Amino acid sequence: MNPKRVKVPERSPEERIDDFGEVPLGYSPDQAVEEAKRCLQCKKSPCISGCPVDIDIPKFVNEIAERDFKDALETLKEVNCIPAITGRVCPQEEQCEAVCVMDKAGDPINIGKLERFVADYARENDLEEPPEVEEVKEEKVAIIGSGPSGVTCAAMLAQDGYQVTMFEALHEPGGVLKYGIPEFRLPNEIIDHELEYLEQLGVDMKMNRIVGQNVDLDELEEKFDAIYVATGAGAPRFLGLEGEDLKGVYSANEFLTRINLMKAYKFPEYDTPITHMKKVGVIGAGNVAMDAARSALRMGAESHIVYRRTTEWSPARNEEIEHAKEEGVTFDTLCNPKRFIGDEEGWVKEMEIYECELEEPEEDGRPSPKVLEDTEHKKEFDTVVIAVGQTPNKVFYENAEGVDVKHWGGIIIDEETRMSTREGVFAGGDAVSGAATVILAMGDGRKAALNIMEYLA
Ligand code: FAD
Ligand code: SF4
Ligand code: SF4
Repeated sequence: MNPKRVKVPERSPEERIDDFGEVPLGYSPDQAVEEAKRCLQCKKSPCISGCPVDIDIPKFVNEIAERDFKDALETLKEVNCIPAITGRVCPQEEQCEAVCVMDKAGDPINIGKLERFVADYARENDLEEPPEVEEVKEEKVAIIGSGPSGVTCAAMLAQDGYQVTMFEALHEPGGVLKYGIPEFRLPNEIIDHELEYLEQLGVDMKMNRIVGQNVDLDELEEKFDAIYVATGAGAPRFLGLEGEDLKGVYSANEFLTRINLMKAYKFPEYDTPITHMKKVGVIGAGNVAMDAARSALRMGAESHIVYRRTTEWSPARNEEIEHAKEEGVTFDTLCNPKRFIGDEEGWVKEMEIYECELEEPEEDGRPSPKVLEDTEHKKEFDTVVIAVGQTPNKVFYENAEGVDVKHWGGIIIDEETRMSTREGVFAGGDAVSGAATVILAMGDGRKAALNIMEYLA
């Protein structure tokens, strides 16, 4: 038994920093089988409890070991309609892989990359069967938002025969998967392919529909028997610092949406302008910050993460931090911005920064950063990206009478029924929890679908 996992081939940093092509290349069939054979097939399978959607991990891993790749796909799809996506972006090291018993003997089983392998192999070798759908039921359900939470809920309901219509504000479905996560981590063609599953299930996808603006919740209520709100947390947080309104200071959402969804990196082939950047300072150190810093690098800029703690406390996935470092992103740690300074035409040209030191841990177990007085110094940046978190967008909840929200905009639900304070309107994903993860949003979508079925029955 090899205690070490089979390494996943990756493109070299030198090769990849000039384009938006995917970084890890994924396992070959032989490599996947070798990795799968390391699984001990534990009776209690702690790994399953680490997965928010309860994938039968030992089963699908064993099917890979037996080269039954088609069966492995079916096992995954029983509870996860987008395995090619979760296999790529799940924070596995904190979930299924964190509790894998092989962790104690060496490396945990590479569950995420095996999941990705199965989905990719099935797609590339035409192994996917059209989903089986129950007899069509009379009840109609509206899903608001086409991110992972809405997609999961829609797929489960449609598979069970409910008539499902999805309303999405943007012109393409996928939520953050499409507009936030860059193609070097999650290629758009993978998302589009996984979303075809919804079409096969007969889900009616309506784009450019903003509920609360050009679609009215009361009207939806008249036409549908239940509603699932999965509008995510797409409104950026700002720091409230002097100079934050200068030209060249972006929220991470705008910066990444321009680059990913609107393909500014292919300008002028795509008509999306973005400033010509030479030196970019990204404030924050989560997944969003890593994505922005690595995108800036690929746009030809020198790229810096400006973070008030040290890298070990960064909330980003380990893989993203390692990739960012390999590619040449500079980490300016123990640094907190004080203000942004502009030139005479109103463009940002410098960031004034305090140095910090770490104090006792905060409630979340992370040490709190203390700003050190009289340590201010200026650094030149012609572009600044603020990546310090997102909150739910007001457009939905300010126009949804009877749907109560917390002070920061998170929709209040009954934990058991998943229903909001308005009868028949359910909610989940980032719109309820605040910015979280793809798989937690999917877990919410799954729970909501089961509760909606019970409610409609
Ligand atoms: P979203 O994905 O936000 O989807 C909500 C959808 O609702 C959007 O398409 C939006 O346009 C639509 N919408 C909003 N308001 C309305 C309205 N009024 N009417 C109609 N439609 C509306 N998580 C991970 O697990 N791994 C990662 O590596 C990772 N990286 C990330 C990188 C970035 C840049 C970002 C921003 C997030 C990342 N996350 C990651 C977090 C993860 O993507 C989210 O937690 C997840 O997408 C939430 O899913 P959701 O379905 O709740 O919402
Ligand atoms: Fe692990 Fe995520 Fe796959 Fe669940 S969906 S098994 S948490 S990688
Ligand atoms: Fe396999 Fe690890 Fe799950 Fe055990 S805990 S069954 S070794 S994946």
